[in-house]
Amino acid sequence: MADKTVPFSRDFIAEVSKRYPTPFHIYDEAGIRATCREFATGFPWVPGGFRNYYAVKALPNPAIMRIVADEGMGFDCSSMAELILAEHLGTPGDRIMFTSNDTPIDEFAKAKELGAIINLDDYTHIDYLHDGIGMPERICLRYNPGSLKEGNVIIGKPEEAKYGFTREQIIAGYARAAELGVKEFGLHTMVASNELNPDYFVETAQLLFELAVEVRRETGVRISFLNLGGGIGIPYRPEQTAVDIAYVARGIRALYDSIVKPAGLDPMQIAMENGRCVTGPHGYLVGTVRHVKKTYKQYVGLDATMANLMRPGMYGAYHHITVLGKENAAPTETYDVTGSLCENNDKFSIDRPLPPVESGDLVVIHDTGAHGHSMGFNYNGKLRSAELLLKEDRSVELIRRAETYADYFATLPQMPKH
Ligand SMILES: *Cc1c(COP(=O)(O)O)cnc(C)c1O
Repeated sequence: MADKTVPFSRDFIAEVSKRYPTPFHIYDEAGIRATCREFATGFPWVPGGFRNYYAVKALPNPAIMRIVADEGMGFDCSSMAELILAEHLGTPGDRIMFTSNDTPIDEFAKAKELGAIINLDDYTHIDYLHDGIGMPERICLRYNPGSLKEGNVIIGKPEEAKYGFTREQIIAGYARAAELGVKEFGLHTMVASNELNPDYFVETAQLLFELAVEVRRETGVRISFLNLGGGIGIPYRPEQTAVDIAYVARGIRALYDSIVKPAGLDPMQIAMENGRCVTGPHGYLVGTVRHVKKTYKQYVGLDATMANLMRPGMYGAYHHITVLGKENAAPTETYDVTGSLCENNDKFSIDRPLPPVESGDLVVIHDTGAHGHSMGFNYNGKLRSAELLLKEDRSVELIRRAETYADYFATLPQMPKH
């Protein structure tokens, strides 16, 4: 069983919290860079080049995006705000994927203006794009394999998912796009979320390689860009194992040699668009214990709430918890760790074995670097927390300030200034 550790001590965080009161999310730059480098070292063999387009929704903070871009990743954007963030960082167009669904024309226009790779979600979007803003020279189409591929728990079965083209539609889609003057063609799918089985990603590559061969045969269109989607999971639980990216890369290479090369589709560019695994394990939500309460059960009440991290309340997701300074103490007690929302789902864990906890203890919730702060909300008038960056030189930078009541009331014309 792997130990889940934290990259800082109690004293370190106690010092930080004098400057930036809890709760806050803190992100470990060294860890994020190390994960980026696993992608870089796994795929140097791809003849057309490999890139992971970091899915911005995981942690849409420009300071983090800058680190990820510095390590060679692009950005997978799915909304206007995410495109504006990529633009703000001066991202070249071929380093932006725009993968969205139910898309308004102004977002397609923004993506086109930035020179992003536009990934279409539906057959009707081909003409919608053409009629609305004119076809770009390069287009990518999103495939939904339906019952050909088993889904996983979070994303569900592909045939129940709202995304992508069917097999017949995608073949017709390439023909239509070619008719409208498209010169470069990509193929995309995204069938996993938080998946820990590495073979799943190798199988996805096989599915897309074979489809690329079929598209060539049936339409003459040559697919030169293949995007396997994101969805590499992270070991939230101590007994889970991280996906070995080098293993995935080796599996994909063998298929490339056996399917892509004989079909004459070499060189092909290969991409992924993982978000969660890039930043998720390197973020920590830090809170302070306000009250310890004993009724029918024992409760640890934090100053953080589900508004700072909704995954446990929304999906029943496991997030590991460390009480700083008590890392080696025996977990002799059982607690529900809660926030202060008037909502009984506002629990970070239920029946969690922990060492004895006291008011004032600093508590760390692990793996909050993806879908943590970014899924935050203001229910019950709770304010969004600050985000901090633990830099490689061990200094700490404020990369998003905490919200104030002035922010909370800013959209109410009838409220006096706060
Ligand atoms: C969310 C999403 C991703 C990233 O998924 P992760 O689980 O963060 O790797 C990639 N592509 C699309 C289209 C998505 O919606």
